[in-house]
Order: sequence, then C-alpha cells, then structure tokens
Amino acid sequence: MPTFQEYLKGIKGEIRELDTIDLKKQLDEGTGLALIDVREQDEFAQGFIPGAQWISRGFLELRIEEAVPDKGTQLVIYCAGGTRSALAAKSLAAMGYTNQVSLKGGFGAWKRNGYAFDVPDLLTPEQAIRYSRHTMLPEVGIEGQIKLLKSKVLCIGAGGLGSPSALYLAAAGVGTIGIIDDDVVDSSNLQRQVLHCTERVGMPKVASAALTLTGLNPDVKVVQHQLRLNSDNAEEIICQYDLVVDGADNFQTRYLLNDVAIKLGKPVIHASIYRFEGQLTVFGADGLPCYRCLYPEPPPPDQAPSCAETGVLGVLPGVMGVLQATEAVKLLLGLGTSLAGRLMTYDAVRCKFRELKLRPAPECKYCGEGVDRSQIELIDYTQFCMLGG
Ligand SMILES: [Zn+2]
Repeated sequence: MPTFQEYLKGIKGEIRELDTIDLKKQLDEGTGLALIDVREQDEFAQGFIPGAQWISRGFLELRIEEAVPDKGTQLVIYCAGGTRSALAAKSLAAMGYTNQVSLKGGFGAWKRNGYAFDVPDLLTPEQAIRYSRHTMLPEVGIEGQIKLLKSKVLCIGAGGLGSPSALYLAAAGVGTIGIIDDDVVDSSNLQRQVLHCTERVGMPKVASAALTLTGLNPDVKVVQHQLRLNSDNAEEIICQYDLVVDGADNFQTRYLLNDVAIKLGKPVIHASIYRFEGQLTVFGADGLPCYRCLYPEPPPPDQAPSCAETGVLGVLPGVMGVLQATEAVKLLLGLGTSLAGRLMTYDAVRCKFRELKLRPAPECKYCGEGVDRSQIELIDYTQFCMLGG
C-alpha cells in the first residue's frame, strides 16, 4: 500500500500544474478561465485570488457542474499549498473535465509573490445563524443577505404603516433604516403602531422606533430624522437611501415623494389606508408610470378628503406595511416582479385583493417623453391637512 506521499506523487504525475506567475499573466490578459478556490471557509475569509469562485474541497464534486457546466472550460483550481487542488484536479478528471490545472504552491505562493488579493464579504458566525432561513433560499443566499446588510431604506413615518414595514426590514437585516417622523408617541397610536409601547408615550417616535429596531436586530443602524419632509429637505435626505417606503398617507408627501423619486431615480413603495381599505403601488422606476400619470395634480382643497380624523381598523396597516416591506426586500434583492406599474387594493371587510394596471402617460409633465428630470421643481402642497397613518 502506498503512503500518502507516494499516492500524492502518483497523482501529481497524472495532472497538470500551473505556476502562479503564469496564472497572473493569464488573468492580466483576461483569458476566460474559471478560477476555483477549494479551501475551507475560514481560509477563504482571509483572502482569495481576485475573480475566484469558492467551492470548498468537500463540496467540489457536488457543486462543480452547476458552477462550471462546460467540462472543457479552462479551470484553475487552487488551495493553500497545491495539495488539495491536485487531488481536486484528479477527481474532476474522473468526472469528465478535460482542461483543469492545479495551481502550484497555491494561495501561499500567490501571496509570497506579492500579488493582490481580495477579502470577501462574509457573514459573522452570529449573522450566519440569524439569517440562516434567508441564506438557505438559493434566491437570497449569503450574497443576497450581504446585499441587504449593505442596503439603506428610508421609512417615511413611524406610524401605522411604518411600524410593521420597519420591523420586518430590520428583522430581514436591512443594514441602514432611516426614519422620518416629527411626532411623539400617543396612547391612541398603540392600537396599530406596534413599534411603540405604553411606557414610551410622550417619547419622539423616531427614538422609540430606534430602540425597538436595534433591540430586534443589533446589525441595523437606525438614522433618526425628527422632522417633516418638505421641498427643502427631501432631496438631500432621500439621495442617501436606496429606496423609500412611504407610510405617510397624505397628499402632500405623496406628490412630493413622487417628484423626488423621478428626479433622483429612487423607487418609492407607496401605501395608504382608509377605514377598512388599503392600496399599494411602487413608483419612481424608469419607464413605468408615476403617481402623476394617474393623478396629474392633487384635487382642489374642497374636494380633498376631510381633515377630520377617521377611524382605521388597527390590523389593516399591518397587512399593508408588511406588503411594503416585502416589495422593498424584493427590489433590494432584484427578486421577482415588483408592483411598479400596478396598483393593488385590499378590502379587509371582504378579504379581497384587486389589481389595477397603471399606464405611463406620455404627456406626463414629470416622467413623460422629453422631460428633463433633473429640472423638476419640488412643490409643497401645504393646503392639505395631514391625515396621518
Ligand atoms: Zn408620470
């Protein structure tokens, strides 16, 4: 029986090896080779050769066909020193791969030559557990989770809609959540605004929201904007975020957000609620209708909804806010079909969802053909009362 050293010697006689100097040359020339790192995760985490794909040795045979379907592809396999990659090259030959080489000296030799390497974005062990139900979905994966952790979402309002949406965005690991609200917690809010609690009555809503959200998930940074959005501050604030979740539910904010969204090219996930009914849509995406395509101007003040406070079923904003968070996470991950170009309504009494197709209006003064979006002037429609979430 051969010793391991004899076995390895035999294998090295059967496979081909590549020098780090030659690999560097080939990478610089941009020859279309596939570079596979077969080390363990903790080794990969310390750094890898730029462009490499990580498949640990233990999973190589299981995953290589998905990663490199063409078995004639030029493959360079590397490990730390060139032993595991030699074994890997031999195994891939047995699977029918014809053009693989093992990197001589491995990542160690690459580093000793002083060549540049990348350090991967990885989840910490705590994050790996916290987000495991996400990462086991191939549509999200570790990559998607890292995307969420790097994302920035602005929630307009920490009220009925903002509560559930911000809670779920924080739970999902959206790394930065900005909250705009100039109000304080009132006991009449607690029937639906689940970010807050009885002992925080009188506290600014942004501060209460920050306590709840960071308590739920310490990965989340909450940016408190204790103010009211207007034409002076909207652009400066919104440009810092990837997208906006609108839970303000009033005409003034709706039109202002629509105009800023078009101007800056940021998606807005809009929801509004009234008694037992809610509606939801996404606007601000290029080539899709905006809110003004549907309603070019706000109604005259005498036809606007009454300024008197109306009742709302407490669970209704829960449904709509969670739908907003779902649309936000989808947009951040690039997953599925967003509600852009559609308006969805929910009738809680009949438990009916309906959908209305929205069409872009070519003559729209904000998103229509030939409009210079950078020149959009923001308007404050101050004659409208704030209905509040
Ligand atoms: Zn439009």
